[in-house]
Amino acid sequence: MSGSTGGQLLAEAKRRRTFAVISHPDAGKSTLTEALALHARVIAEAGAVHGKAGRKSVVSDWMEMEQTRGISITSAALQFAYYDYVVNLLDTPGHADFSEDTYRVLAAVDCAVMLLDAAKGLEPQTLKLFDVCRYRGIPVITFINKWDRPGLTALELCDQLENRIGLQPTPLTWPVGEAGHFRGLLDRRSGDMVTFERAPGGARIAAERRLTPDEARGYGADWDTAMEEAALLDEHDDASFLAGKTTPLLFGAAVANIGVSHLLNVLAELAPAPAARPDKTGTPRPVEAPFSALVFKVQAGMDKAHRDRVAFMRVCSGRFERGSVVTHAATGRPFATKYAQAIFGRERDTLDLAYPGDIVGLVNASALRPGDTLHDKQAPVEFAGMPSFAPEHFAVCRAVDTGRSKQFRRGIEQLEHEGVVQILRSDLRGDAAPVLAAVGPLQFDVAAHRLEHEFGSAVRLERLPYSLARRTRSEDRDTLDAEHDVEVLERGDGALLALFSDKWRLSSVQRRHPDLLLEPLVAGG
Ligand code: GDP
Repeated sequence: MSGSTGGQLLAEAKRRRTFAVISHPDAGKSTLTEALALHARVIAEAGAVHGKAGRKSVVSDWMEMEQTRGISITSAALQFAYYDYVVNLLDTPGHADFSEDTYRVLAAVDCAVMLLDAAKGLEPQTLKLFDVCRYRGIPVITFINKWDRPGLTALELCDQLENRIGLQPTPLTWPVGEAGHFRGLLDRRSGDMVTFERAPGGARIAAERRLTPDEARGYGADWDTAMEEAALLDEHDDASFLAGKTTPLLFGAAVANIGVSHLLNVLAELAPAPAARPDKTGTPRPVEAPFSALVFKVQAGMDKAHRDRVAFMRVCSGRFERGSVVTHAATGRPFATKYAQAIFGRERDTLDLAYPGDIVGLVNASALRPGDTLHDKQAPVEFAGMPSFAPEHFAVCRAVDTGRSKQFRRGIEQLEHEGVVQILRSDLRGDAAPVLAAVGPLQFDVAAHRLEHEFGSAVRLERLPYSLARRTRSEDRDTLDAEHDVEVLERGDGALLALFSDKWRLSSVQRRHPDLLLEPLVAGG
């Protein structure tokens, strides 16, 4: 690679910010996504999309945004320019779509924005996603949303972060006026107060006014309290943020576009750019190395006639050119990328090229599965595959027609291989009745649909009354098997999982047998 190409590549990588929003349903992720795009001046009027009644899923919102605004969106990522930066915002499906895919998205980002509802603070789905961020070493910026409505106090929210998840908040802004009585924000770095003039329905960027501390005194006790509280708080420090020990904290109201420009500025200034990614042996692959990418999500069409698969990859190093033939590391086979086009956005330059941090959708990608690496054929590399996450839903799966057990087994193996669902087995249950384990029940629907339509084996699923899995060891198996309502099964990756109905059952077993190893799994465990 010539020096100038390498230099350009580094410059392109350096201006990318690739992140996802982690939140619990209803915290305001869709609203924030639109507000961010609005602030990036891509969308002139958010109301056109947001105001409609009978909201569709985020995916369809995003597709509609693509059609009406001509910005580059795949069903997995939204890309927009912000000053000199190129921002890639990856979707983390929630609500009924919550599944292992939601966690896998976090393998493809450099940073996460944790979005909290001011009235609710840390909620279960946020905590699960946060666990994955911590496990992967992803730095987290926290945005407290809905400050226009009554909620917890800013100090209570800080306390939750510090004491419940051991994350030290380093607020960059601090609210003047409590939740529901919002006067403005103290910008801790400049010492100024920022006030906002709300745009009706958040359709425009809220006009901001900066007041010097002297001017802000007019806000009386609200300003004094903000100043007193802010004096007690920690300052931002890059190294601790990047190490996942602290979180820059911001306050706002996405629906009124308040605090959103601060968030974008913080992403641009503080969030890490794409950096060297370690391969499976731990050797870092620099961003300026030849092309490599990680597949983090594969979407199978539910349409029987078209066995279409869309694979979403994150470029990790080098430059991706549509039409190039790259190598699929898992099989060593060539993979033609000429079909990157269909879902690759519509602007010419995004259509043909992608740089580290960018997301590309590949259609006709039935050979690819989450965790796979694609690389330049001259410069092989293989990144670590996807981990399995803590399942919370379990179901026994049986073929309706026992005469089709061969098709059934082949289908189960294939779904396990693709990571559609986790498969748990035990001698007791046998091959004809494996247990499917999932992060979200949607995974069962996808598995059942594919077993019937792709593999020709309709199945019956019977939900099991477990909600908690712990990793255990073979020497503990007998003790656990003797327990009522506890079952030990083996996962495809060799992990031995003990299943419990709930945390009370778990703790009663643990209390009676303190020597048992019952280790939480990543996320939700
Ligand atoms: P998601 O489920 O996280 O994508 O949440 P949505 O973006 O759909 O928002 C959930 C609800 O919260 C909607 O009714 C939004 O209008 C509302 N909402 C979002 N942001 C704010 C905010 O800053 N203030 C208030 N009061 N409501 C908000």
